[in-house]
Amino acid sequence: MKTMTCKQLGGACDKEFHAGTFEEIAGMSKKHGMEMFQAGDADHLKAMNEMMELMKSPDSMNEWFENKRKEFNTLPEDK
Ligand SMILES: [Zn+2]
Repeated sequence: MKTMTCKQLGGACDKEFHAGTFEEIAGMSKKHGMEMFQAGDADHLKAMNEMMELMKSPDSMNEWFENKRKEFNTLPEDK
């Protein structure tokens, strides 16, 4: 298991996610983002708008995703 925070995954808070694969942790952060979005959290709304901007360009979205995947892969395993 590895740990990444909401912020590290393009979000807005320090909530930690723990998962064994990048796909899993990305899914957890997405779910959390949607929950915060529905709760109307201003910081997460802003972060999500920035992600939406990024998603307009598939190339920058892929690049962002691959960078995060690399970041995840270089993280040490949780004790
Ligand atoms: Zn968050």
